[in-house]
Amino acid sequence: MRTDLHRHPENPPTAVRNLGILAHVDAGKTTLTERILYVTGTTHKRGEVDDGTTVTDFDPQERDRGITIFAAAVSCAWDGHRINLIDTPGHVDFSDEVARSLRVLDGAVAVFDAVAGVEPQSESVWRQADRYGVPRVAFVNKLDRAGADLDSAVESIRRRLHPAPLVVQLPIGTESGFTGVVDLPRMRSLVWTDGRDTAEEGPVPEELRAEADRRRRLLEDAVAELHPAALEEFCAEGSVSAPTLVAALRDLTRTGDGVVVLCGSAYRNRGIEPLLDAVVAYLPSPLDVPAVRGTQGGVEQERAADPRAPFAALVFKVNATGTGRLTYLRVYSGTIGKGETVWESGARRVERIGRILRVQADRHAPLERAVAGDIVAVVGLKSARAGSTLSAPGAPLVLEPPAVAEPVITVA
Ligand code: GDP
Repeated sequence: MRTDLHRHPENPPTAVRNLGILAHVDAGKTTLTERILYVTGTTHKRGEVDDGTTVTDFDPQERDRGITIFAAAVSCAWDGHRINLIDTPGHVDFSDEVARSLRVLDGAVAVFDAVAGVEPQSESVWRQADRYGVPRVAFVNKLDRAGADLDSAVESIRRRLHPAPLVVQLPIGTESGFTGVVDLPRMRSLVWTDGRDTAEEGPVPEELRAEADRRRRLLEDAVAELHPAALEEFCAEGSVSAPTLVAALRDLTRTGDGVVVLCGSAYRNRGIEPLLDAVVAYLPSPLDVPAVRGTQGGVEQERAADPRAPFAALVFKVNATGTGRLTYLRVYSGTIGKGETVWESGARRVERIGRILRVQADRHAPLERAVAGDIVAVVGLKSARAGSTLSAPGAPLVLEPPAVAEPVITVA
């Protein structure tokens, strides 16, 4: 299903997912990002990482030099929701930059290689996300590779990362014959054929029926064990309906007691639509996460994701590009319109917001305003740095204590 971006210029906070893709180098983050942009209709051409045409490469000069430069955030639309894909640095350290990128997202997809399973680097990325309390779903990628094995990848998640893996798909076919998945909560199959953009939905193939039944029971048992409230409902109903199971999986994802596991092949464009459905179904919206805390005149304050509350936003990246200085921000509360003024916590002065932009892969869509929960880029700010708070001049707020100013990254 492709969704026209322009039909959803603005979304209520409940329909926003601020998403990061967490992966160690080579697990397929670039390919997956590329396919998400393609499947959501944000780009119309499938780029290939290996031939240097991925749209997330963004800048022709950088592309020529073979360096992947992500926009700090790219926006796409899926099933009536806006998904803001926030770039998370590939390197694993405890720098302010990594902390900030984890801070501005509300949920993440952790990508694993179906041959290698959990590797030391994926473990570090996972621990960092734990530290910032980021709810996750897991995507076991590269199922088309020789030696790919979902079960052993899941086993390594269980052994090394400790949340209970809740496997919601059964692959159809193996290695180069991997063609689709059985969606266990709904007991339907999704099959991808080369040359077609979207999955074909159908009944569970006869030869997989017994195995799919067995795996759904395993999933139900795992959920029931972790979520006694849901268990009561199971007993009362006899069999577990898809909505009940999905609601229980959503709770477990948000508490971090379990991790929903999906699989696919980003490279072959298989498994992307159910992954996006899972992002919408299981990961939280800006309204589902705790209110942000900051200080106003030294006094601690909480700001909920309410469009009518005083404006507060955190700057998480500043890029100097050919189109000007782009300041990326996460709006935590309130609403801001173009041309309005904000108080900037670094220079401690009032600045004017010029244009407000939604970054969509290789183009920028102008917006009249940005509201609580959203991620946008603005043009016109001079002193804001990564880590600055922007807030209503009448209610100046500081979300992060002043840090060493980071340099502005010059892309073009
Ligand atoms: P990143 O470093 O995590 O951004 O990984 P890339 O997206 O650049 O992928 C690393 C390598 O793995 C590239 O050569 C990709 O073509 C390849 N790759 C990515 N996804 C898949 C997949 O699903 N199957 C296979 N066989 N290769 C993949």
